[in-house]
Amino acid sequence: MKVWDLHCDTLSELRYAENDGRELRFGKNDLQIDLERLKKGDYLLQCFAVFVNLTRDRHDPLKAFMEQADIFHRLLAEHPDELMQVCTPEDIRLLPSSGKIGAMLTIEEGAVCLDDVRVLRNLYRLGVRMMTLTWNHENGLAYPNSVPDNAYSVWPSHPVTDKGLTEKGIEFVEEMERLHMILDVSHLSDGGFWDVVKYSRRPFVASHSDARAICGHCRNLTDDMIRAMAERGGLIGLNYCASFLDPSEDRDHVTSKISDMVIHARHIMDVGGEDILALGSDFDGIEGELEIAGAQDMPKLAEGFRKAGFSEALIEKIFYRNAMRFFEENL
Ligand SMILES: [Zn+2]
Repeated sequence: MKVWDLHCDTLSELRYAENDGRELRFGKNDLQIDLERLKKGDYLLQCFAVFVNLTRDRHDPLKAFMEQADIFHRLLAEHPDELMQVCTPEDIRLLPSSGKIGAMLTIEEGAVCLDDVRVLRNLYRLGVRMMTLTWNHENGLAYPNSVPDNAYSVWPSHPVTDKGLTEKGIEFVEEMERLHMILDVSHLSDGGFWDVVKYSRRPFVASHSDARAICGHCRNLTDDMIRAMAERGGLIGLNYCASFLDPSEDRDHVTSKISDMVIHARHIMDVGGEDILALGSDFDGIEGELEIAGAQDMPKLAEGFRKAGFSEALIEKIFYRNAMRFFEENL
């Protein structure tokens, strides 16, 4: 079963290793994603997020972006027979017959643009095709739904509704839509989500978020949000992070289980329809006990969906067809 994954943090792990002088090769490593694992998992495309944590890189977020974008382009140059950069609808049409794994550059932290749409346009020229306005820090564009110190322990949910997009954030929404750079609302505050609904016109994505009705974490989407995204023709990537999947009250012992992924998947499709759901693993950004421990384990998730009674056609939609259609229509 082919896989199209909307979010991973592998580039930032490669950057940390490079800056620390640690050897870490993309071809084969002990992360959750490497080239060997992507092949084993039968990947069609991986979105590679440039993740910037402002706690570490507030002094120069654009440099943190540039270092990761350089790693991304070096990976493409080192593996020309195995990887193919995807930027356009035409690239997507060529991808399946290329025999290569697609690689799309994305961003998780809009502060890398230094609040300047000229920088945004240059990042688009480097291949960026999707961006979250925030990670877990407030920035010049918007307010996030949780802050770094308690990002993984917000329980039960305390969503931020009073602070959303700034004036600059609204300008960014308009420019991203003009460029056809996809807006990604994962990590955005509830207020920010509804500002995006208000100020955007095109379909948008939540690249790695689950259902709040199932697991009451503010990183997850409410049913109203799922419905609003469905009305717009949006896309939601199922996140494998235990904190967002497992609703157990004992928050110190949550685990990432296939059975919970099935429950979230079913709920998101019950509310938003079969065309809305995709995958957003969050690999190399999540840790702990994971039944799907890395890209190589994706056949186990397909098997879990089969056992839950999902048809082969529906599993194909979740695994790659919905995302493929979305990006072909909206890039
Ligand atoms: Zn994230």
